[in-house]
Amino acid sequence: MTNELAAWLKERIAAEGPMRFDRFMALANAAYYGSRDPFGKRGDFVTAPEASQAFGECLGLWAAVAWTMLGRPDPCLLVELGPGRGTLMADALRAIGQASPGFARALRVHLVEQSERLREVQRETLPCPATWHDGPHALPQAPSILIANEFLDALPVRRFLRSGQAWREVAVGLGDGGRLVEALVEASVGPGDALALPARAEEGATREIGCAAREAAGILAERIARSGGAALLVDYGHGGVPVEVADGTTLTALARHRVVDPLAEPGEADLSAQVDFAGLAEAVRQAGAAAQGPVPQGMFLTRLGFLARTQALLRSAKPSQRAELEAAARRLVAPSSMGLVYRAMAIAPVGLPALPGFEAT
Ligand code: SAH
Repeated sequence: MTNELAAWLKERIAAEGPMRFDRFMALANAAYYGSRDPFGKRGDFVTAPEASQAFGECLGLWAAVAWTMLGRPDPCLLVELGPGRGTLMADALRAIGQASPGFARALRVHLVEQSERLREVQRETLPCPATWHDGPHALPQAPSILIANEFLDALPVRRFLRSGQAWREVAVGLGDGGRLVEALVEASVGPGDALALPARAEEGATREIGCAAREAAGILAERIARSGGAALLVDYGHGGVPVEVADGTTLTALARHRVVDPLAEPGEADLSAQVDFAGLAEAVRQAGAAAQGPVPQGMFLTRLGFLARTQALLRSAKPSQRAELEAAARRLVAPSSMGLVYRAMAIAPVGLPALPGFEAT
């Protein structure tokens, strides 16, 4: 099978020189999500809402409580960023309909999704009309409750390497036989980036900056500061000190549940990087809103009643479904699985009391 994106990239790099890594990652992920439905056991990875309906239900209840704490704005946008198959939103809406009819009446569903193909899947999954947008910047200004699960980790990162007296930036160039390989180019560092790239550093030091995730968090925070609302960001990540996977980057390329070389088959593997929650919190504060958390996903879900909801589902489950439900619940909450490395962070107006799951311990 020929890889059209790889062919296009090679032509372009041959003509124009190496392409900055973040640009490559943006193109590779757009092609990846644009050409498939990668979720589930037969796909490339299983996300929390695909593992257990209790996940989306708990997040729906979170949104309903947040809506009450915000003074019951009507209308109120209920936004999901990167909704995948739309499973989380469908589960959330069902729970909201039962627990908070007032919120169910006031909410308007808006989705941020780049992939036309996944928009189609979402349209089929959702029980109500929705409005789609290409990015968070395109959302209309209105009070809104925003949810994102495993969205920020798919956004492009910039990567740097210290060489001599300067930082160089990782790009994608052409190697032997026209293969795509990593190449170093002059770092184009703006005033914001300079903070994360110290003037002094050891030879060979590396830095990875999730510029796009920070920008997205800043846009959400600015909306919340201006029009009111709250956001819930759930993702795998770290609080400022990344756990490096290899070569000073947290980047992982996944295809069919296996780790693969990120440059080998662009558009055929999901590229993701750990979310830097400390960086997000800084962007949120700079935009005039408050960050709550992050707290580990296991603790967050337990506080929201995830285990009690799972018990209720187990009572009415068929024996054949029981083992799967239990395994999924363990996976999302257990510290050795997704319970610790996945975290939840909220964005709220300054002065709003702790949102559900973010109470001080
Ligand atoms: N939240 C879902 C899917 C996570 S995968 C779940 O938990 O199952 C990432 C999602 O974000 C996909 O829907 C993908 O198409 C979307 N996405 C990735 N990069 C994007 C971008 N730059 N702009 C808009 N959507 C993007």
